[in-house]
Amino acid sequence: MELINPRTFLIVANLLGLLCALVLWVQAKSFPADIGGLRDWAKAVVLMGCASGLASLRGILPDAFAIVLAAALLLLGELLLVIGLMRYTGRTPRWRPAVDAVAGLVLLVAWLTWGSPSYPGRIFIMSLAHVAFFALGAWLAHRARPTGFGSRLLSAVFVLCALIAALRIATLSADFAGADEAFDRDPIQQVYLAAFSLGILGLSIGFILIANERLREELEYLATRDPLTGTFNRRAFFARAGVEWARAARGRRPLAAIVCDIDFFKKVNDTHGHHVGDLVIKDFARRAGAMLRLPDVLARFGGEEFVVLLPDTGPQDACRVAERIRQEIGKRRDATLPPYTVSLGVAAADGDDTAPADLEGLLAQADAALYRAKQGGRNRVEH
Ligand code: GH3
Ligand code: MG
Ligand code: MG
Repeated sequence: MELINPRTFLIVANLLGLLCALVLWVQAKSFPADIGGLRDWAKAVVLMGCASGLASLRGILPDAFAIVLAAALLLLGELLLVIGLMRYTGRTPRWRPAVDAVAGLVLLVAWLTWGSPSYPGRIFIMSLAHVAFFALGAWLAHRARPTGFGSRLLSAVFVLCALIAALRIATLSADFAGADEAFDRDPIQQVYLAAFSLGILGLSIGFILIANERLREELEYLATRDPLTGTFNRRAFFARAGVEWARAARGRRPLAAIVCDIDFFKKVNDTHGHHVGDLVIKDFARRAGAMLRLPDVLARFGGEEFVVLLPDTGPQDACRVAERIRQEIGKRRDATLPPYTVSLGVAAADGDDTAPADLEGLLAQADAALYRAKQGGRNRVEH
């Protein structure tokens, strides 16, 4: 008595695979269009499920269906897996050579079915194709972003599938002995088919997970960034600044803030138009951001006003950073933009000092310094 009938197992695995395809399809419809490949994966899972169903009926269905059509669907499915992954990772797939290769392989399988029948020959050709597709899939999945659990699961299942296909080639000599037996009398093939169906299931779950992780990342980006400049928005700034303030207070470490405001910005808008004003704001964000270190937080507080939070930075260093930004912005790097300057106000909480009492106090100090910089003639740093 068998513990699990491989054919029952295969049917259950394929049904679960179809359910996953449905989930992928729903994701494809509701996720942002720039998360590509979901439709390809849904189709691929359906194609491969059909193929493994057809192959499991070998000896019952005519060979044209159970062997040749099954091989064609399987290879097309694997091609779609890879194409979907390429789309997901932002590559543009080239269909023509891939479809040609698949057509060539199907012709070869047909030849090995009717022209010069060879069961091991067919297995060899198909397994070789599996190894190639799955290895490519593993590589693409490994490089897919975000590199979370989904990407790791996906590449692991791809590697496992490639190993199973390679093992199939290695155990081929056993098949030469009893060449071309019907499906029911070939338990090895049944076990491989079942493992394969399980592999497809693993892959679809991997795709669902990785697409969810990408969606989460994109939503988080949208929720924390200013759309014009890509710098943090006010809310994300306070979330991070709160953490930094607590860390600085606990470790008695300094923490500094710089408030930046572009000078005479109304004039830029009035003279050159709102669009050029936007370009100046973007230019400032890019160039000021390039002056900062990784732990520093640059946020747009509104209009042409930015705030920089500098962890582990005392008043002198913060003034130096502010002065560097002022000098950089004073240089005209882009001839298509009008020249402009920036005023900066610096405030720092020294680890030992208790003033200012909180983050708002620190920002108010920096704001007051900015006001003095504006009063003092602009294009300057005050603290
Ligand atoms: P000051 O040197 O005193 O800072 O002078 P200013 O002209 O820069 O004065 P203020 O800071 O009050 O000007 C801000 C202007 O920025 C007012 C508003 O029309 C414009 N502004 C606010 N948000 C945007 C934006 O997203 N894009 C553009 N192009 N302009 C904006
Ligand atoms: Mg201004
Ligand atoms: Mg302003």
